Amino acid sequence: MTTTLITGANKGLGHETARRLTEAGHTVYLGARDAERGRRAAEALGARPLTLDITDDASVAAAVETVRADGAGLDVLINNAGIEGRGPGNSVIGAADVTADMMREMFETNVFGTVRVTHAFLPLLRRSAAPVIVNVSSGLASLTGLSTPGTPAYAYPGVAYPASKTAVNMITVQFAKAFPEMRINAVEPGFTKTDLNGNTGVQTVEEGAEIIVRMAQVGADGPTGGYFAAGGPLPW
Ligand code: NDP
Repeated sequence: MTTTLITGANKGLGHETARRLTEAGHTVYLGARDAERGRRAAEALGARPLTLDITDDASVAAAVETVRADGAGLDVLINNAGIEGRGPGNSVIGAADVTADMMREMFETNVFGTVRVTHAFLPLLRRSAAPVIVNVSSGLASLTGLSTPGTPAYAYPGVAYPASKTAVNMITVQFAKAFPEMRINAVEPGFTKTDLNGNTGVQTVEEGAEIIVRMAQVGADGPTGGYFAAGGPLPW
């Protein structure tokens, strides 16, 4: 039996990932910062609701205690919760307008939240026979993509979001080196229609969740420390 926790799974890509992994037979903890939204989503999928705000130490500590007390352990952690922090009219905040406070808010969720949750769940993960961590990054984490005219990412003017996801990739590499017994990878779902981008994405959540689900099920002989899209490894 595989036990899996997905952060930010009450909607969007996390929710679709929870649906697929529940269907695949995982015991899924559906993480949500809003208890009621989490309860409703979990009930509909046959998953276990887990109240979890990744920016809040006490909330994360309580979530660890809940999973520990259930006694099922933890095999797979999917750090999916994230924000893009768009401005008025769904506008992307570019270099002319970005502030230190915006950067801080972005990093608080996407980067520090990912580290907070990973750190807190490490003791449980390390007891698993085949621990897996999937960090949901973005194609916008790629310096190659953002700086090469003609790539889909090139036109994206935002500063804080790409920087936070590049940091997620770096964290992925360093954790993978530190824990060679685990499979720890970053994934790029592709531009997917969700609330994150005001539903302007071009893929469905079914398409976007593909690589998250695949990397959650990676075998002990699979890659670690990598950065993958559905089509294969990405440069960054
Ligand atoms: P959604 O906005 O649909 O979902 C984001 C989820 O994260 C929600 O459940 C949200 O909860 C949760 N969340 C945000 N902040 C916190 C927090 N502090 N604690 C706990 N949960 C939180 O976005 P997506 O499904 O699109 O995004 C999922 C991941 O995929 C993100 O990491 C995003 O960066 C990444 N991604 C998305 C792409 C896309 O095109 N959609 C492309 C590349 C990467 P709540 O409902 O309470 O707000």
